[in-house]
Amino acid sequence: MGSLELPFFISFALYFQHLANTLYSTNCAMTKEDLLVLISTPIYIIIIGLEMILSASEGRHFYTLKDTITNLSLMVLNLSLETATRFISFAGLFYFLHLYRFEIQLRWLYWVILIVGVDFCYYWLHRLSHEVRLFWAVHVTHHSSDQFNLTVGFRSSVFESLYRFIFYIPLALLGYNPFDIYFIHSLLQIYGILVHTQFVGKLGILEYILVTPSHHRVHHASNIRCLDKKYWDGFYMVG
Ligand SMILES: [Zn+2]
Ligand SMILES: [Zn+2]
Repeated sequence: MGSLELPFFISFALYFQHLANTLYSTNCAMTKEDLLVLISTPIYIIIIGLEMILSASEGRHFYTLKDTITNLSLMVLNLSLETATRFISFAGLFYFLHLYRFEIQLRWLYWVILIVGVDFCYYWLHRLSHEVRLFWAVHVTHHSSDQFNLTVGFRSSVFESLYRFIFYIPLALLGYNPFDIYFIHSLLQIYGILVHTQFVGKLGILEYILVTPSHHRVHHASNIRCLDKKYWDGFYMVG
């Protein structure tokens, strides 16, 4: 390793270590979601840059300027609408939270059930996004690219943020704090973005446990045989 790379990697490691410490500090003004953005943004920039370089050097043309600009524009639109309407989602979920009957005492169990629960609820949101025309009209933007690369992961279903919280009401009824629900949602979305790549082949046994890039390539394939197949968008397969 050269003399420049080592300090570069050490500084990144320190950066992530500091963020991880902050994540657990009690008097931190940032939300866990803000920290996720700080952690994931440099990762996205590095791996998207790497994918672009690999794609160009191997002559595979996975990126076009027009498509990438569209993907990133949809991401900005989505973030803007998400931010502007988040209070509606939280208000809706807090309403149902006040009706809750259960309280999970064990913290680790609370988070494990939340991860599985968010993934399950999002699975149904995604599935209905393909099976109900109204929802498909929103989700179609995510599937309208001719390319398949990491930036397609940011090609958002922009108006989904208006009604996504409805699918998370069962979790609020179980006593889950909306901030925690959306934290796990954002965490799983990071993984959901990373499966938009053609540089990762089949992953052996993991193909039976996780959503993988190969599953998601099938999901995005537009030929009839593959249409509406594989809705899995989280860490496990529920359909
Ligand atoms: Zn889809
Ligand atoms: Zn996708």
